[in-house]
Amino acid sequence: MLLELIRGLALLLALCFVHSVGVRFWQHRPLLGRVLTGLLFGGICALGMLQPLQPAPGVLIDPRSVILSMVALFAGPLPATIATAIAAGTRLALGGSGLVAGLAMIFGSYAAGLLYRQARANGWWGVGLWPLLNFGLLLHMAGLGLLYGLAPEGAIPLDAEKVLPYLLTFTFATALLGALMHDAQERLATAQQLADKAARLQALTRSIPDVVLLLNAQGRYLEVLTHHDDHLAVPACDVVGHYLSDYFPPEEAAQFVAQIQRSLAQRQVENFSYQLRTPQGLRHFEGRCQPLDSLVDGQPAVVFIARDRSAEIAAETALRASEQRFRHLLDEVPAISVQGYGADLRVQYWNRASEQLYGYSADEAMGRSLLELIIPADLQTPVRQATSALFSSGQPIPAGELRLHHKNGHPVHVFSSHVGIAAPGQPLMMYCLDIDLSARKAAEERADYLAYYDALTGLPNRRLLLDRLGQAIAAHQRSGLCAALLYLDLDHFKTLNDSRGHAVGDLLLQQVAQRLQSGIRAQDTVARLGGDEFVLLLHSLNANAVEAAAQVRRLGDELLNALRQPYQLASQEHHCSASMGAVLLRDNHTSTEELLQQADLAMYRAKEEGRNTLRFFDPAMQTAVNERLQLQADIHQGLRTQQFVLFYQPQINASGAIIGAEVLLRWQHPERGMVSPALFIPLAEETGQILALGQWVLEQALAQQGHWRHDPQLASLKLSINVSARQFRQADFVAKLQALLRSSGAAPTSITLELTESLLLHDINDVIALMQVLRNLGLHLSLDDFGTGYSSLSYLKRLPLTQVKIDQGFVRGMLHDHKDVAIARSIITLAQELGLSVVAEGVETEAHHQLLQAHGCRQFQGYLFGKPMPLADFEALVRSRDSI
Ligand code: C2E
Ligand code: CA
Ligand code: CA
Repeated sequence: MLLELIRGLALLLALCFVHSVGVRFWQHRPLLGRVLTGLLFGGICALGMLQPLQPAPGVLIDPRSVILSMVALFAGPLPATIATAIAAGTRLALGGSGLVAGLAMIFGSYAAGLLYRQARANGWWGVGLWPLLNFGLLLHMAGLGLLYGLAPEGAIPLDAEKVLPYLLTFTFATALLGALMHDAQERLATAQQLADKAARLQALTRSIPDVVLLLNAQGRYLEVLTHHDDHLAVPACDVVGHYLSDYFPPEEAAQFVAQIQRSLAQRQVENFSYQLRTPQGLRHFEGRCQPLDSLVDGQPAVVFIARDRSAEIAAETALRASEQRFRHLLDEVPAISVQGYGADLRVQYWNRASEQLYGYSADEAMGRSLLELIIPADLQTPVRQATSALFSSGQPIPAGELRLHHKNGHPVHVFSSHVGIAAPGQPLMMYCLDIDLSARKAAEERADYLAYYDALTGLPNRRLLLDRLGQAIAAHQRSGLCAALLYLDLDHFKTLNDSRGHAVGDLLLQQVAQRLQSGIRAQDTVARLGGDEFVLLLHSLNANAVEAAAQVRRLGDELLNALRQPYQLASQEHHCSASMGAVLLRDNHTSTEELLQQADLAMYRAKEEGRNTLRFFDPAMQTAVNERLQLQADIHQGLRTQQFVLFYQPQINASGAIIGAEVLLRWQHPERGMVSPALFIPLAEETGQILALGQWVLEQALAQQGHWRHDPQLASLKLSINVSARQFRQADFVAKLQALLRSSGAAPTSITLELTESLLLHDINDVIALMQVLRNLGLHLSLDDFGTGYSSLSYLKRLPLTQVKIDQGFVRGMLHDHKDVAIARSIITLAQELGLSVVAEGVETEAHHQLLQAHGCRQFQGYLFGKPMPLADFEALVRSRDSI
């Protein structure tokens, strides 16, 4: 019997093995697994029942109780029910006397197993060895009870000596099967847990953005745990089995391997940073390797984790580059000084412009205090306050103009702005941006200076003089002391300027200024009004006007004497004198401008009276001034109301025939009567009115000549027209003249323009060019008043002239002054040599006429032949002569 029991046990073990294998196969299809388990266990039960121990006929002893109870306990209701059904069916088919007890045993085991399962789930009963043994014993004792209880009357189902082996064997078998199934269950659960864990781990490693791989001590890729192919030289699947040296330069690979080996030997983490050309391009990585506690494929290995830092490095590089650019800009920006200070006001940044502006090199400035470097004494306190407010509470410092100082002590004017900047993790810094205003300040000062001073001589100008004159008038009223104004003009300054140039003229003005300044008292003022005009303001003279005038005369004479001393101008000695007009500040009602005018007038009187002298203003002069002003207004009015007329003075040839006339301007003033041009022409020249007058004369004269051309008696008459220098120089003189020639129909060859030598004082070459243009138009050019100018002879041959007019002065003097005869004669000879015609004007007597003729003059003009006369008279004269 024992042998049969052991065979039953072997069957159980086989069952157990098949079950554990099946469970592993079916774990992914649990329902099928459970059905198959039920079929398997049921089948084994049936198999056991087919070869049972038959202690008595119809009584089957087999391990079905063990199997059904354990399948119910470990596999659950479905497999247990299937197995129970198979077992019950088999038992029914076998029949026999023990059928009822056998079925009861089947269902009892099924129920006991399920109860046990419930008790286990509730934690009341475990599945260890003892609980299983107890369960097995109880179950089989109950089974025995059933066997005996349900056995037919008188039948002994089991021999007494077999009861104990039965109990022992089946109890033990139950415990064994239970333990095996429990173990299979546990193993399955453990495997499941491990699989879950591995799956979680894999999910985790895949989600890591870093490269995670395993390397052995030789640098061989054992496994790539992550799947970032972008981070590897080749796809992960191709890397495994290769060596680091396959993807890195030999030296770098060797260094990596050494680090891996060090990490393995010292059980420590090693850091790497490297670059790798990936399918995505060159990338920068930072990695670390950590020794692995277990062996991989039987060899020590490290986990290598690397992170792609390309983007960060690119950003860092870009930031550094931008920082560098910015710093370079700051360093090199011209004209803007940039300085950086810490809270202790010590220099931490000092650009090149700061070096230039403040004179300290960056090396000298670094670490030194703002206050000590560039802040002058008067700004120390405000700067200290403003900067401490900025550093303590961030209170901004307003931008503005400051006067700081340079290393060498001179002031530096700047426009200064300030800004507090705190870089992340850094203390606050103050940056000052200073723009140099020195040039602007200097220009402003210069402009201020020029507003009140004359740039050439450094003397006060008209503005400052008027200012001081105003003060002097007030002071004079208070103190009762006299003051005087002296107007000074250099004699013949223009000549010097024209002959030796403006630079030499300027030298003279500067020396005159010096002499004047050293000749007056400290309280007096000498000013330059412009040109060669100076004004002296003398204060605190005697209260008595006569005494004061005497003081002025004394001082004036001294000054005139000082000015007469020779000057050294560009290594040439020059002599010069001045004319002075003086006025005493007597009348309180005189304005500053009036006073200046009066002094000016007195100065003119001094000039008229032979220059190099001093004249006092007197009221008669004022009358003259007023008259001049009136005259000016009258000329204006006269032009508008056609008060001007042309007179014609005949010009005669050698045989006494009238060849033409000089047109001379006359002014038929409604109150003053006929006004001589000698009275108004000089004034018109001064005021510029000569331009309008001259134009009017040209219009009239040309029109007249054009008109005469239609009259056979007058057609050949020539007209000489006076043209003033100012008129001649007008920019559009030629254009206007051409237009007039066209509109009037005058014959250019019948027109002679009379020019004066004053024209030749400036830009002689331009004048010559212009004269040539006029000659090209067919006009004749005559030089009027020849002999009175100072430079006639030298210019004469260069000028494209057709005629010279001997000045009346020589003609007049010829009869009693042999020098005049000589001059007249040489003019005539010279003109003839140069191919010019000569006209003598101012011929008043036959004696003059004879003399001039004797010396070769062939054309004449003068009272002897006719005074300037109205047009009608002139025309009548010509016609009457013609008819003789
Ligand atoms: P000028 O060009 O030298 O003119 C000659 C002046 O001498 C004229 O004076 C004329 O009347 C005067 N005269 C002529 N023959 C004799 C004579 O035999 N004896 C004396 N004692 N005098 C004689 P007028 O007409 O008073 O002109 C004076 C100056 O006014 C002219 O000097 C000329 O420079 C200027 N002038 C006259 N008309 C014009 C004009 O239309 N335009 C310009 N720019 N200046 C003019
Ligand atoms: Ca003339
Ligand atoms: Ca003349």
